[in-house]
Amino acid sequence: MRGVVLHGPGDVRVEQRDDPEIAAPTDVVIRLAATCVCGSDLWPYRGIEPVRRPSPMGHEYAGIVEEAGSEVRSVKPGDFVIGSFMASDGTCEICQAGYQSRCAHVEPVGANGAQAEYLRVPLADGTLVATHGQPDPALIPSLLAASDVLGTGWFGAVAADVRPGKTVAVVGDGAVGLLAVLAARELGAERIIAMSRHEPRQKLALEFGATDIVTERGDDGVARIKEMTGGYGAHSVIEAVGTQESMMQAIRSTRPGGHVGYVGVAHDVQLPGDELFFAEVHLLGGPAPVRRFLPDLISRIEDRSIGPGKVFDLTLPLDQAADGYRAMDERRAIKTLLRP
Ligand SMILES: [Zn+2]
Repeated sequence: MRGVVLHGPGDVRVEQRDDPEIAAPTDVVIRLAATCVCGSDLWPYRGIEPVRRPSPMGHEYAGIVEEAGSEVRSVKPGDFVIGSFMASDGTCEICQAGYQSRCAHVEPVGANGAQAEYLRVPLADGTLVATHGQPDPALIPSLLAASDVLGTGWFGAVAADVRPGKTVAVVGDGAVGLLAVLAARELGAERIIAMSRHEPRQKLALEFGATDIVTERGDDGVARIKEMTGGYGAHSVIEAVGTQESMMQAIRSTRPGGHVGYVGVAHDVQLPGDELFFAEVHLLGGPAPVRRFLPDLISRIEDRSIGPGKVFDLTLPLDQAADGYRAMDERRAIKTLLRP
C-alpha cells in the first residue's frame, strides 16, 4: 500500500509500505475513506520534535473495516468506523472512568501511520465506533474530524466545565481551537470569545458559534478578556496551542474558581508554582479521551446538527501529502484532508 513517511524535517514522502495485517485477535484492519494532517504532525515536520528514523505519519482516520481479528465483537467487515488516536481496551478502571486516552493498555494508533491506504487498529472493541449504516459521503470529513480535532476540542470544553450561561475563552485558532468553539456552543455557553488574529479563522470561529473575537495575545489578550468580563476573567478557558505563552494566557484569563481545559500538546511548558497557587483555578487536560465522546459526536454529525468537517479547507490526494503539510506549515491551510 501507499503511505506517508516523514524522513526528516520538511521531508514528507509517499512511498510503498507493507500492507498491515491482523497481529492480535483484538485488531482490525481498515481501508481508509479519508485521513488528514494534524497540527501536531507539524512539530516533527518543523524539526521541533526530533525525527530519529523514517516514521509513518498520521493518527486520524475513518474508513471501512476490511478484516477483523477473531476476538473482535463490536464491529465487523464492511462497517464504517471512526476511532481515537489512542487505542484503548475499554475495560480497565481508567477507561471505565472515561479517560480512555490513558488506558492501562493504551497503544498510540499513530505508530501505525494512518496517512495511508490501510491501517491496523489495535483493541478494536474499546477503540472504534461504527456509524449507523454507510454514511453519506458528504459527511465523511466531519466524521474524520471526530477522530481527533473535534473530540479534542470537545474534551477541552468539557475539561473547562463549559455549561449554559458561562463565558468561555478559547486560546488558539487551529482546528482544535475552532472546534472547541463549536463544542462550547453545543454545550450551551452564553458567550464564546475566540482569540485569533487570522481573518479566515475568525470567520470560521464566528460560524461555529463565537460571539466575540479578540486579536490580542499574551498579556494584552489577558487584559482584553478581563475587560470584557467585568475584571473577573472567563469562567472557562480552553487552551489549544501547547506553548508556555498560550498556557499562561489561558491560566491568567480564567477567573478564580474557573476552569482551564488544556488540550494543546505541551512543548516545554513550565508552570510557576506561586502563580498557580494564587490563580486558584481548576486545571484539567491531556490527550483527549476521544472515545468517550465518539458515539455522541457521530450522532450529532449524522443528524447534521454539527458540521465540523468545515475545518478542512484543503483536500488533496494522498500522493500530494507533502503539499498538504507545506500548506499547513505556511498557514495557508487550517487543515488538510487526504484522500487515499
Ligand atoms: Zn483501558
